[in-house]
Amino acid sequence: MSPYDLDLFVIGAGSGGVRAARIAAGKHGVRVAIAEERFYGGTCVNVGCVPKKVMTYLSEYSTGFEDAKGYGWQSVKPPLDWKQFIERKNSEIERLNSIYETMLEKAGVTTYWGHASLVDKHTVRVGDKTITAERILIATGGKVTIPPIPGAQEYGLTSDDMFYLDELPKQLIVVGVGYIGLEFASIFNGLGTDVHVIYRRNQILNEGFDNDIRQFLHAEMEKKGIKFYPEAQIEKIEKISEKCYKTTLNTEKTIENSHILFATGRKPNIDGLNLEKIGVKTNNKGAIEVNQDEQTNISSIYAVGDVTDRITLTPVALAEGHALVDRLYGDQDRYISYENVPSAMFTTPNVSNVGLTEDQAHKKYGNDIDIYTANFRGMKKIMANNEERTFMKLIVQRSTDKVIGLHMAGEDAGEIVQGFATAIIAGATKSDFDHTIGIHPTAAEEFVTMREKTR
Ligand code: FAD
Repeated sequence: MSPYDLDLFVIGAGSGGVRAARIAAGKHGVRVAIAEERFYGGTCVNVGCVPKKVMTYLSEYSTGFEDAKGYGWQSVKPPLDWKQFIERKNSEIERLNSIYETMLEKAGVTTYWGHASLVDKHTVRVGDKTITAERILIATGGKVTIPPIPGAQEYGLTSDDMFYLDELPKQLIVVGVGYIGLEFASIFNGLGTDVHVIYRRNQILNEGFDNDIRQFLHAEMEKKGIKFYPEAQIEKIEKISEKCYKTTLNTEKTIENSHILFATGRKPNIDGLNLEKIGVKTNNKGAIEVNQDEQTNISSIYAVGDVTDRITLTPVALAEGHALVDRLYGDQDRYISYENVPSAMFTTPNVSNVGLTEDQAHKKYGNDIDIYTANFRGMKKIMANNEERTFMKLIVQRSTDKVIGLHMAGEDAGEIVQGFATAIIAGATKSDFDHTIGIHPTAAEEFVTMREKTR
């Protein structure tokens, strides 16, 4: 007889927590409960990937109506009912929330609604309930932040807020050039909002993205009318009138805007968990430290997903939670690899990549690399009189002929790169790419027809 109420208690019903709870209870038959304080499905379903992708589709229609004119369609720009869009988006999220609820119920997982905190190494409190478990898994994700700038707390918006705006912004300032800020910049630019992007650095995105892609995307977004302010910081935000603010930069420039989004970074969500009291170690960014078994320094407490601040993407949180419970309860020696994790950014154009950037490849292999690139305007865009271009890049280790990096900025980049990611994980060589017959006419075929080295 176990001395505990449960085998596993999961804190947080987001991507990682739900997957771990569902597989542990449904597949491995252990006794599991989960605590959630906000919504089933966590960030991704409610205020992340899902509503964000739905908004990119909304925005793409707008571009599509414009492009259609190049094909002979006449007057195809109907007005947008923003409120109706938000209602439709909300009902889609509610549908997904209830799918998560049903999945957990079917697997036999009990849900406790409310904020969970640790009482000791084996005990969790949710509201007035105290539950003991042999193991506790923390999957509490990340949270939005707003920097301490005068006016920012009162008038600034976070990515969470952007999904519940009561009207389409007229002028939007986006602060920050990580993927979330740039995605919102593209979405609202496509919808006709006047978009200004302010950032401290002199280049968009971080070093995890290839330099050619960073420069290409910047140029493409600028071509679409997005205004970029590099090496700039906000000094203050003042309210001029209802929904009209004056934002002052350190360059003394001022911008009038109806909305200002702070996309300046997310933090691991460890609020009120009581980690210090129990002695669970966190790093200097507040992320929970885990070993390769997802175990914290307290052996009965584990953590997965964004709260550990490793690769903060939904499929990674899912894979971590799944592999963990397969190891703990399924006798499987299964670990996930953090190498060659593909990712996509739903800007216009989309960006996607797998493997090393050129700088990373240089650091690892010195001059033993060859670079192949293609930069073109696709047939669809030419016909549409749309100036948007596509950029593709392959990085090859010369001595082994292995493709070690693949990058794309262009329509449907995420859809295209997903397939190539499998090839790269399987160790595909440049000559495998060369022997692959292209699918014509597509943009993707460029990846298998790059014959001349760029450098
Ligand atoms: P979460 O999904 O954040 O779940 C944590 C859950 O824990 C939440 O529901 C929270 O309410 C709950 N919780 C927290 N503390 C407590 C507590 N003490 N008690 C009870 N419950 C608690 N990833 C992608 O792969 N693709 C994308 O396109 C993408 N787009 C994104 C866009 C935006 C705007 C944002 C913000 C994120 C995006 N992400 C994307 C990242 C993705 O959402 C996260 O990586 C993923 O949700 C992490 O899952 P998780 O399980 O770690 O945490």
